[in-house]
Amino acid sequence: MCSEKKYIYSFEEGSLDLKPLLGGKGAGLSEMTGLGLPVPPGVTVTTEACNLYYETGEELPQFIKEGIQDYLTELEENMDKKFGDDANPLLLSVRSGAIISMPGMMDTILNLGLNDQSVKGLAKETGDERFAYDCYRRFIQMFGEVVLKVEAYKFSRKLDDLKEEVGADNDLDLTVDHLKELIDKFKRIVKEEAEVSFPQDPMEQLITAVEAVFGSWNNKRAIIYRDAHDIDHDLGTAVNIQTMVFGNMGNDSGTGVVFTRNPSTGENKLYGEYLLNAQGEDIVAGIRTPEDIQTFKDSLPEVYEQLVEVTQILEEHYQDMQDIEFTVEKGQLYLLQTRTGKRTAKAAIKIAADMAEEGLIDREQALLRVEPEHVEKVLHRQIDPEAEIEVIAKGLPASPGAAAGKVIFSADKAEKVAENGEKVVLVSLETTPEDIHGVLAAEGVLTTRGGMTSHAAVVARGMGKPAVCGCDLIKIDFEAKEFTVGDTTVEEGERITINGGTGEVILGKVEMTEAKLSEECKRILKWADSYKELQVRTNADNGTDASKAFEFGAEGIGLCRTEHMFMAADRVPIVQRLILSESAQEKQGALAELEPIQCQDFEEIFAEMEGRPVTVRLLDPPLHEFLPNLSELVEEVTKLRVKGEQEELRKKEKLLRKVKNMDESNPMLGFRGCRLGILIPEIYEMQVRAIFKAATKLATEEGVKTELEVMIPLVSELNEFEILREKIEKVAEQLLAEVDLELDYKIGTMIELPRACMTADQIAEKAEFFSFGTNDLTQTTFGFSRDDAEGKFLHEYLEREVIKENPFVTLDAAGVGKLVNLATESGRQVNSDLKVGICGEHGGEPKSIALCHQYELDYVSCSPYRVPVARLAAAQAKIRNS
Ligand code: ADP
Ligand code: MG
Ligand code: MG
Repeated sequence: MCSEKKYIYSFEEGSLDLKPLLGGKGAGLSEMTGLGLPVPPGVTVTTEACNLYYETGEELPQFIKEGIQDYLTELEENMDKKFGDDANPLLLSVRSGAIISMPGMMDTILNLGLNDQSVKGLAKETGDERFAYDCYRRFIQMFGEVVLKVEAYKFSRKLDDLKEEVGADNDLDLTVDHLKELIDKFKRIVKEEAEVSFPQDPMEQLITAVEAVFGSWNNKRAIIYRDAHDIDHDLGTAVNIQTMVFGNMGNDSGTGVVFTRNPSTGENKLYGEYLLNAQGEDIVAGIRTPEDIQTFKDSLPEVYEQLVEVTQILEEHYQDMQDIEFTVEKGQLYLLQTRTGKRTAKAAIKIAADMAEEGLIDREQALLRVEPEHVEKVLHRQIDPEAEIEVIAKGLPASPGAAAGKVIFSADKAEKVAENGEKVVLVSLETTPEDIHGVLAAEGVLTTRGGMTSHAAVVARGMGKPAVCGCDLIKIDFEAKEFTVGDTTVEEGERITINGGTGEVILGKVEMTEAKLSEECKRILKWADSYKELQVRTNADNGTDASKAFEFGAEGIGLCRTEHMFMAADRVPIVQRLILSESAQEKQGALAELEPIQCQDFEEIFAEMEGRPVTVRLLDPPLHEFLPNLSELVEEVTKLRVKGEQEELRKKEKLLRKVKNMDESNPMLGFRGCRLGILIPEIYEMQVRAIFKAATKLATEEGVKTELEVMIPLVSELNEFEILREKIEKVAEQLLAEVDLELDYKIGTMIELPRACMTADQIAEKAEFFSFGTNDLTQTTFGFSRDDAEGKFLHEYLEREVIKENPFVTLDAAGVGKLVNLATESGRQVNSDLKVGICGEHGGEPKSIALCHQYELDYVSCSPYRVPVARLAAAQAKIRNS
């Protein structure tokens, strides 16, 4: 049979753009050959041939076998060597190479073509008998494993036994006779295990080797790997047949692996290792410890110079850091592989920045090379990679970074212990909004339940605190104040370290490296700022967060939630008095106490932002969130009744009645947001006074005028907005008149209900800005309550692909995103000055940010630690769209 299609490409014929046919390795070998670099000649049998092999019933079609034979004849002529010759034999390597590299999936066979005759030829030709027999025993071993499926340890055990028997530490100490003996043993193993004699016909060796590589495409490991990495099973692998070069021909020979830059730090300096007098696989096999490439200068200076030159050529050609395999045969350098090198987040950022500065790539390319997650990774405190650690359990890597501290099992206690200057890791089943103060006080959070988007995880990410969640191996005993995992018991107060990037829980305290933006990262982000169209703001509820975000490049605050100010321990009693007040007088008293505290908070925040826009949202959550928990209160009252403590009992009973009264079946859809503002106007009025007092103080005392934006939450009806707008204006104008100050401010609304989106054209007539609260908007659009969804069915939904992505993590373009787009367009149609942004977790998530860019929003707002990520993602969205 003959075919039009080409299934075999020599390295001279191939090139990088044929990668789908040639696989990564083959394409790289061809590309290097094309550049005139020293690559031992060879051919690639294509991925399509692999598919044919399967169609033919796991056999190479005859015409491909003939094609290989033809090439061999040509190669023999060119190399002036003969396959299987007993005088001057041609030897080959057979190497697999898929399009996407699948590490460790398919093995390489070296020294193919050796048999009982040609080994003598090799010995004669090289004048080195030991070398020849060393090659032969390696070949039998590799061929036995890869093609004949003999278990690897059967060979390596024999090698070890022999070494021990003759007292050799190193395989280089084995003599020719030892090696000959070993070869006999290896052949016997083959005979016993594979029930065939070791094949002596080189052509048979070659064809079966090629078939074995094709066959390995569908071995179990390979299939599992492809499933796990979403790689198509139909791609197939290519096979490279290449002339051997020998690194094991003495001390002017060797083999090594180099990276053109340091893959761990990004430093622009050749990085890697090598072994003298060795064949490639010795490095990975760890039989001998390789040497640092820097010392290669001293052992083979001329080859080192050449290597440096060649690696530079490759890096320039590929315009990226390369991972290169080389072998030196008697002082002659050969390149055996090149590919784009894998790197850490830190290295990715440095390499991209450096390459742009060196002019190797342009800034746009540099910005696209860094992944937003890289930026996030380098921002957090990390466990010192050198530290020795004892991992006791592993949960979900819910919020990156590392934290060490004393194990504490309750939020209250965490707060107390932290107040004494101790570092704390809060350990609990899960966290609820009531535990916020504990999370705030802790260095990090470890929960035994809940997923990547559980409350603890979301809050921790928002605060930039490390978290490990859903670590169900850990059993907490709250009575005994300890947790156990396997047979380790950790008591409250003992120290642990968590790694939120890997999910590891580590016993004791380990060394950390501090978090800040590296110089390279700052450089990259500065370039990002010059490309991006979206502004990046931050969500910040206090001066500390605002200051951190400012350092990370936030251009303003997109969401300042005032309820977190109410939650702090010293304020809750005042807030409770406000809620429980029975007379106007009592209420005024509580408000008067709160006002200066709020004012102080705002002053700190505004000062940090140095005149940049700040969006303050008026009180949003239902008031019962500030009161004690209903069931706990019932329990307390019952206990008091039994004890008969009358006075305390009456107090608690009154509280209980109130709490019962305020209890709601669906608080998320209940008495909250602007509904509070309309029915209990005093609270909003107090807040507005505090906001404006803080702003006017800063303006008069420091001359810094804050761009104020007052935001009304949860509006669904224009009337709600109008009623509140009027009230806010009245308070604000009165205050400004008192100090005789002109201050521009905007009044706008959070858009978080579908009805608000549908009536955005009406609302925009009166509102100066919209800020999409996409968390509530997602809840109300899907009709999911986030906690219930994530706690009960969302996980299954995602698993079964009922929905593709968690809409609380990535903005749902088809539904929620459509509403955002509609509201933005219709709002701007009636009010062209309308400022539009998005706040909430989506504002820091790259895919959602790309959508916001597409909808032409003015800004995204996210937690301080996501600000750098968002700056990069916004630039990438712009670059990719133009
Ligand atoms: P992997 O995909 O595991 O890296 P390779 O096909 O790159 O496998 O082969 C592994 C090693 O075998 C190479 O690093 C190289 O040292 C050695 N090798 C492969 N082909 C040859 C050859 N033609 N001559 C000498 N050594 C080779
Ligand atoms: Mg390799
Ligand atoms: Mg909301």
